[in-house]
Amino acid sequence: MANEVLFRNLDLERLWDIDQYRSRGGYEVLTRILTQKTPPAEVIEWMKTSGLRGRGGAGFPTGLKWSFINRDAPVDKYLVCNSDEGEPGTFKDRDILRYNPHALVEGMVIASYVIGAHRAYNYIRGEFWEPYERFQNAIDQAREAGLVGKDILGSGYDCEVHVHLGGGAYVCGEETALLESIEGKKGQPRFKPPFPAHVGLYGCPTVINNTETLSSVPSILREGAEWFRDLGVENSGGSKLFSISGHVKNPGVFELPMGTPFAELFELAGGMRDGSKLKAVIPGGSSSPVIPGEIMMDLTMDYDCIAKAGSMLGSGAVIVMDDTTCMVKVLDRMSYFYHEESCGQCTPCREGTGWLWRVVNRIENGEGRPEDLDLLLDVQGRIRGKTICALGDAAAMPVEGMLRHYRDEFQYHIDHKKCMVGAGA
Ligand code: SF4
Repeated sequence: MANEVLFRNLDLERLWDIDQYRSRGGYEVLTRILTQKTPPAEVIEWMKTSGLRGRGGAGFPTGLKWSFINRDAPVDKYLVCNSDEGEPGTFKDRDILRYNPHALVEGMVIASYVIGAHRAYNYIRGEFWEPYERFQNAIDQAREAGLVGKDILGSGYDCEVHVHLGGGAYVCGEETALLESIEGKKGQPRFKPPFPAHVGLYGCPTVINNTETLSSVPSILREGAEWFRDLGVENSGGSKLFSISGHVKNPGVFELPMGTPFAELFELAGGMRDGSKLKAVIPGGSSSPVIPGEIMMDLTMDYDCIAKAGSMLGSGAVIVMDDTTCMVKVLDRMSYFYHEESCGQCTPCREGTGWLWRVVNRIENGEGRPEDLDLLLDVQGRIRGKTICALGDAAAMPVEGMLRHYRDEFQYHIDHKKCMVGAGA
């Protein structure tokens, strides 16, 4: 299919094998760029034209990020891929590592060449044992074929690709905590500025990109920047992997053009499980505010449309909930997760996430107090924008979203000391 950038009948074609990947045009772009010594600035311009934005959640323009690196600085530069996929609901990068690992290897070497790096790291979530083995095997095959390592294809360009397995902390998906972890330190986010483009891994200029972002690079450069851009909509170029889970019949990973109606993705996932009705959707991973189902059915899956509805496209992790779902319980689970995963470095997050969880938990357990909903809004407001990294915001935003749309459910729990969903209200 013309609009598939990363997934092309993967099970049938065994793209994780280098011969299959090459038979589909794999490594052609890398070969062309290195043998023709394409000026890096030219590649950056193509990436800017493509409209590719970071697929890890922040949506920062990829070409622009690459352009921040001073190639001429007399120090090492590094490329780091973030495969520490830990946002609840997100499982798209896992499938790239499993089914299309050579696209990532090729993308990493191209990006390294562009920024002047000779060493690239892929930080893979520690629990991804099988995807890790697939990816490591892809590196080994590429090295054997002369596509990774010293003097790649006789071009004089060297690039080593290493894997670093994480230890299980969610916060290591934050780019600077990830750098600390690779350096062998405790995985805690750094203050910014300085940004990694200036002071990154081992204090050197570093680009950190998400797995899906880097894996998209070979297809963009092979098929053309305009081709990729035109797959999507304005301000959201290309196609995107959406991982959809929850109360749908057919959960999984689907690749669709940016701007595709949510209703289409929902249909691909088989719609609601038998006998249930759509209630709510978390559109971009657990940190993105919830959207009621009837609103979501009119939205399209792109950055601007989801933002206008008061949420975020984030990593494209769509969690669908039916009418048997208690929103207090959902927030209880999520708040506990963020409280557990806070690194404890800054007070609003360390203390605030605990406050959020304890208050939501007592509401869930029928011990809510009349002042609790205002207290929750107050506490989340004291966290947002006041922390070192985005985990604080990630914990706070769902609270505001839940109370915006489902305050009545929380109020019912407080007033009646039980759940309105179970009570059939
Ligand atoms: Fe750590 Fe939370 Fe502060 Fe991030 S916001 S640095 S996770 S305490």
